[in-house]
Order: sequence, then structure tokens, then C-alpha cells
Amino acid sequence: RREGGQRRVQHFQQRMLNEAQDRVRLISELHRGIEKGELHLFSQPIVNRERSIIGEESLIRWFSSVLGTVAPDDFIPLAEQTGVIVEIGDWVLEEACRVLAEWSRDPARSDLTLSVNLSERQLRADGFGERVREIIERYGVRPGRLTFELTESVLHTDIDRTVGLLGMLRTEGVKSSLDDFGTGYSSLSYLQQLPVQQIKIDRSFVSSIVEDPQAAAIALAIVRLGRTFNLQVVAEGVETEDQFEKLRDLGVDAFQGFLFGHPRPISELLVGA
Ligand code: C2E
Ligand code: CA
Ligand code: CA
Ligand code: CA
Repeated sequence: RREGGQRRVQHFQQRMLNEAQDRVRLISELHRGIEKGELHLFSQPIVNRERSIIGEESLIRWFSSVLGTVAPDDFIPLAEQTGVIVEIGDWVLEEACRVLAEWSRDPARSDLTLSVNLSERQLRADGFGERVREIIERYGVRPGRLTFELTESVLHTDIDRTVGLLGMLRTEGVKSSLDDFGTGYSSLSYLQQLPVQQIKIDRSFVSSIVEDPQAAAIALAIVRLGRTFNLQVVAEGVETEDQFEKLRDLGVDAFQGFLFGHPRPISELLVGA
């Protein structure tokens, strides 16, 4: 019996060791991948109630020559822990602004917005606001075309600083959006303080919206909240016509999901592509 227990402990330690080794390997591969240009920007359309595309959300992709395709959920959290997300985020922001500048010269795309996911760590990094301003200016981007998506994790630390930063961005004309809304600790009271212009109903509510009256009630509550606070309400992860219809009936303003388009390389949306 005792031996079995020891074996279990050894097994556990071995697994921990493997996990630690995996992490170290992943981190060093990520650094190498960044240098070798293995990160790419994809994007997914966001449509209005008439199904016309009004914008895109940029989504990062890592095609590692060593590890194969690594999903953002498998490397973004690690990049956040090690801080390399700040470097990645700067690259994403720069790419996004380059794309927006291109779109502005394309009559078919000049009105589109581009949403960029932001980690709490990026927001907290020194000089973030100034860097945003500098990149926007350098590319001549109309600030109103750029939206930052933040999760409720930004509410965990130094809320006053976050409010100040988002307020400054809003003054510049850059919009902010609360992502994965309804899944965090929220903190409805923060909505009053936070200068955001958009909330995104989390996919977990959308996926069960047709058959689960409680999910529908939550979505409706979010829509009403959005009206009260004058926020655009976006539903994410819309996969079926039934979900789209239900969400539209509830009053949702905009929609995103496989029903309207999968993420594809953002370079495909450039002039002449
Ligand atoms: P997110 O911001 O909530 O992005 C939405 C995720 O849902 C994306 O996963 C997207 O591909 C997926 N999705 C879109 N429509 C559907 C649908 O109809 N059904 C289903 N099942 N899924 C759908 P993805 O691209 O794997 O990204 C995962 C997460 O990684 C993102 O979640 C975001 O939190 C993070 N992420 C992606 N790009 C960046 C980035 O540039 N910076 C930062 N900080 N985080 C990023
Ligand atoms: Ca997002
Ligand atoms: Ca989301
Ligand atoms: Ca998410």
C-alpha cells in the first residue's frame, strides 16, 4: 500500500517535472518563433443585424515549425505569465494599425473597425497609452476604427489606473470593449466607472441560447444593461441560424461566429489581395 502511495507521488513529481519542462520549452520556442516571424494575424468578421460586415476581430495564430500550430489559449496565458505578451501585443497593435491604414485606402473597407485583444499585462505596462498614440499617428489611423477588447481581469488590479487609461484612449477616439462578458467576477458596478463602448456576450451563453431559457434571460439582461449604459452589444460564437434569430429577437446589435465567417488570414483582406 505504502509503495503504491510512493509510486503515485513519484508519478506526480514526474508529471510536474514534465509540465515544467514543457513550459520552458514552449517559452523558448515562443521566443524563437517571434524572431522567425511565426506569428500571424487572422481576423473574423463582425456583422450587424442585416448581416453586413461592420468590422473584424484580429486573432493571433502561431504556426511553429517545431510544434506545429499552437492555439492562442495554449500560449497566450504563458506569454502573459512571462511578460512576453507585451512584445507580442506591440506587434499585434502595429500589424492592426498597418491593416487599418490599408483599409482606409480601400473604399470597400474604409468604414470597417478592427478589434484587438488586449491582455491586462499590456495595459499595465509602462507607457502603453503613449505607445498606442504613437503607432496610431505613425500609420495615420482614424482612432475610431480601432477597438480594444479587454476581459474583466483588467478590473483585478488598480482599477483607477485602468479607468484613467481607457478614458485617455476614449479622448483620443479609440473604443474599448468588455470581452467574454458575464463570465468574470463582474462587478456590474464597475460598468458605471469603466469607459467602455461595447460589451461582448460570451460564447457560453450563445451556445445554449436556443434551448436554455436561463441563457436567454442572461443575454436579455446584458442587452438591457447595454441599452441603459449606451453600449453596443455584440454576441460572439454564433454558429447557427436559430441562435442568430434568437439573439436578434433579444435586441443584440452585432454578431460574430462561424455562421458569418471563420477566422482567416487578415492579409487576405488587404487591397489587391
Ligand atoms: P476571444 O477573444 O474570446 O476570441 C474568440 C475565440 O472564439 C477565438 O478563438 C475564435 O476563433 C473563436 N470563435 C469565433 N467564432 C466561433 C464560433 O462560432 N464557435 C466557436 N466554437 N468558436 C468561435 P481563438 O482564435 O483560438 O482565440 C482564443 C483566445 O485567445 C481569444 O479569445 C483571446 O482571448 C486570445 N487571443 C487571441 N488573439 C489575441 C491577441 O492578439 N492578444 C491577446 N492578448 N489575446 C489574444
Ligand atoms: Ca476577443
Ligand atoms: Ca470573447
Ligand atoms: Ca475568450
